Amino acid sequence: MSVWLERENPARLGELVGRVPVAEAADVDEAVRAADAAQRSWALTPVAERVEVLRRAAAAFEDASLNEEAAVLLAGESGKPLGDCRGEIRFSAVFLRWVAERAPEVLADVETDDASGRLLLRRRPYGVVAAITPWNAPIILTMLKVGPALASGNTVVVKPSPLAPLAVSRLLALFPSELVKVVHGEAETGAALVGHPLVRKVAFTGGEAAGRAIGALAGQMITPAVLELGGNDPAVFLPDAEFTDAAMDRLVMGSFQSAGQVCMAAKRLYVPAAREAEFRDAYVKAAERVVVLGDPLEETTTVGPVITAQAAERIRGLISVGEAVRLGRVACDPSRGHYVRPTLLTGLDDASPVVADEQFGPVVPLLTYSGTEEVLARANAGELGLGASVWSADEERAFDFARRFEAGFTFVNTHGRTGMALRAPFGGVKRSGHGREYGDEGILEYAQTCSVHAPAAFRAGGAGMAAAAYPV
Ligand code: NAD
Repeated sequence: MSVWLERENPARLGELVGRVPVAEAADVDEAVRAADAAQRSWALTPVAERVEVLRRAAAAFEDASLNEEAAVLLAGESGKPLGDCRGEIRFSAVFLRWVAERAPEVLADVETDDASGRLLLRRRPYGVVAAITPWNAPIILTMLKVGPALASGNTVVVKPSPLAPLAVSRLLALFPSELVKVVHGEAETGAALVGHPLVRKVAFTGGEAAGRAIGALAGQMITPAVLELGGNDPAVFLPDAEFTDAAMDRLVMGSFQSAGQVCMAAKRLYVPAAREAEFRDAYVKAAERVVVLGDPLEETTTVGPVITAQAAERIRGLISVGEAVRLGRVACDPSRGHYVRPTLLTGLDDASPVVADEQFGPVVPLLTYSGTEEVLARANAGELGLGASVWSADEERAFDFARRFEAGFTFVNTHGRTGMALRAPFGGVKRSGHGREYGDEGILEYAQTCSVHAPAAFRAGGAGMAAAAYPV
């Protein structure tokens, strides 16, 4: 008899969105063994044929009625606004098509034949990939793993977050079932998957605690792991930055999209002390324009509830320090769900927990600085180094500053989703993790480069070399 995980709508307490069966260790074993058996023939399928699976999935994601069905599920389980959910599914299709286009070139053999000899570099799949994903952008964060892994000749077993397992399962069912398996459950199911001896690569996105546990277990198994962990992204406004309406709108949504529960949200704002009042005024006005706290299924909502009661309580605790400026408009009864009012905090120093740690919620601190070197040191302080942004009227100045960020990626004059590019690798430095998604690097993550070498000395007509000589 199955044990079930139920998901309640975080915007409508008491409303059940759906449920999934928990996979026991034996179910995980069965899924991995089946994925391993299928992988052998999948690896022999030419890459040009493999990517057709991604194109077919993308076409299905683009179907209007399927998009709507999955988006409604995603909004219900995650609390993200419906428009965002539709967009995430459409963007996932765009990503899969991009991988289908790039993979044949990125994964092609590289052959060299010259005076040194003949060298073949081949991109070999790992085998079975374990993908363990969070709830906050479950569709794209899963496709970032499944797309490149399949294109490279791997098969995949996905363990979605128990907080948003429904929409992603619906969409993963569109892939051939022998190539992509899904197992549901909490940490225990994830650990059974990561610790399985037939899993050859782990791809994880989530928080630091789970990242440490998964990295340690993968290390025990000598299984390589991509770890995409949390961030505490600074947004630095240089003295010449322009606080235009459009720029402020982008910044505000860069902090409050998905109720601030985004790894690359703008989580600390640094502005010149002399311009604090001007900035604050522009920021509050922007929030009036773009932040509407409400039920995710209402079309006008731009910010929904947070994911759980515990998250809401933790975030409200962070708001109890500093001077709080409540932001945006409220278009719902906040007692119906886990709603937290978007808030700007001022009057804090860098040691305050909401500045020093990832808040992962709709509250953002405004900090002031007086010198460029000072703000750079403060932005780079701490153990996390996911994203960052720099804002300036002078692009050269912004790029010079960006070169010195301790961050995996930096946006110029924007922050978050609007700053991303399919070709730009994404991932952290320091304790924000290692490995990359997006870009050619994000495809090569799922292939190991193996070589075949015929030294010139021993090819027909070669002069030979001493039996124990070092190569030159
Ligand atoms: P989480 O770490 O709690 O869970 C992520 C996944 O790991 C879930 O599927 C969970 O069931 C599983 N898991 C947890 N413990 C495990 C264990 N010991 N062994 C195996 N599996 C385990 O994260 P979350 O709350 O779902 O997501 C929030 C965090 O994710 C934030 O810190 C956020 O910054 C980070 N995140 C990072 C990125 C990125 O690309 N760097 C993107 C999105 C979210």
